[in-house]
Amino acid sequence: MPDPLLKLHQVDSFYGRIQALRGISIDVFAGEIVTLIGANGAGKTTTLMTICGQPKPVAGQIFFNGQNIHGLSTDKIAHLGIAHVPEGRRIFPGLTVLENLQMGAIASPSKEPRKKLDEIFDLFPRLADRQSQRGGTLSGGEQQMLSIGRALMAEPDLLLLDEPSLGLAPIIVKQIFETIQRLRDNKSMTILLVEQNAYQALQLSDRGYVLVNGQVILSGDSKELLNNEQVRNAYLDGTN
Ligand code: ATP
Repeated sequence: MPDPLLKLHQVDSFYGRIQALRGISIDVFAGEIVTLIGANGAGKTTTLMTICGQPKPVAGQIFFNGQNIHGLSTDKIAHLGIAHVPEGRRIFPGLTVLENLQMGAIASPSKEPRKKLDEIFDLFPRLADRQSQRGGTLSGGEQQMLSIGRALMAEPDLLLLDEPSLGLAPIIVKQIFETIQRLRDNKSMTILLVEQNAYQALQLSDRGYVLVNGQVILSGDSKELLNNEQVRNAYLDGTN
């Protein structure tokens, strides 16, 4: 078994005195999609944010590519090859699509920026059609595509996606999930995905972790989790 690309070992995180993560251990291997599922407030977003160094973990260790990244700044962690697409698609509304994408490459400029842009336009043809449109005037789905595209401009080894389907129409959700799958299948991207839409997320991912109250209570192959009685009752809402 190879070493995981990302390893969280017994990580604790706090917001002030509130403990949000309690001894979280998660492995993500290169080339896989791993999903975190859990109810509101379970700690999914905090797990992604802690990986990025904000908040900094109070206990435990986080390894990326074999390097201990515990305590490093968010900038440094991004520079090592972790790109974070936060919940709520924080794009620059006043900048055009092209300028938003170019901003994504500022921290780690690509050797071939034009090629990178073409790859992103290939992945999201809608963005190619709207290069000169301001980000703030895009639809929700287009903004999500832009947010993911911008993260990819930094040529990361690991993509952290927080609720990419949030608030989008089912047909757009399908497109976004298909793109996530293509990123893994065609670009060998490694993805840690947080989703409320547990059924679809488990269908597209390789493995999953279930979080309750800041702790991992269950983990396994996504197919096993889809069939797990506890998961079905709590998170799959009667879906089959
Ligand atoms: P959701 O699906 O609702 O986004 P989540 O699983 O992503 O939930 P987190 O956002 O990680 O959960 O929250 C975990 C816990 O940390 C919750 O109890 C939440 O209230 C708390 N929390 C999150 N952000 C902050 C903050 N900035 N300050 C204080 N407490 C916070």
